[in-house]
Amino acid sequence: MFLESNVKLQPAGWIEVVCGSMFSGKTEELLRRLKRAYYARQLYILVKPAKDNRYAEREVISHDENAMECITVDHPGQILKHVSGVEVIGIDEAQFFDSELVEVCEQLANAGKRVIVAGLDMDFLGRPFGSIPQLLAIAEYVTKVHAICPHCGNLASHSYRFAKSDETILLGATEAYEPRCRKCFSLGDRLKPKSISKGH
Ligand code: ZN
Repeated sequence: MFLESNVKLQPAGWIEVVCGSMFSGKTEELLRRLKRAYYARQLYILVKPAKDNRYAEREVISHDENAMECITVDHPGQILKHVSGVEVIGIDEAQFFDSELVEVCEQLANAGKRVIVAGLDMDFLGRPFGSIPQLLAIAEYVTKVHAICPHCGNLASHSYRFAKSDETILLGATEAYEPRCRKCFSLGDRLKPKSISKGH
């Protein structure tokens, strides 16, 4: 589990990245860190790209329905308008922002703020996604979280998509995806979706 090296903020800030596949708990980890900052009476904001409108506009909701109020912005530069007096900035679904996000995160960290970025590190074809690779390079702390492959039980780092579409961004359809390990990802459509069975 990630433990902050210093919860009393120094004049120099830093960047943390939480990345992984879909269903790996990235948003839960981001919200956990923000809640801890909140209990430490640190002023924080949570930001997400406006195009991620799967759920309520003003809230970030992880798949387990943990909710926290957030600000939606169209471009990373707009984050700068909301950070006066703020100590901790959480950014969710960061893969959907353009490359300006890297510059904005640097600027915020250089201004003494703690920046926590959560996002998919790979798209549905297993390619590095958006600005996440650059952010991984410049971050002080990197946490890669994993889902579990429903086919073999190994750790899953890929997001496999069943829906037929060439678009990199396919929102509002989490049922079109499942987490897969490297081997099961490479088997593609030869593996059928695992249906969810609920326990009693
Ligand atoms: Zn597998």
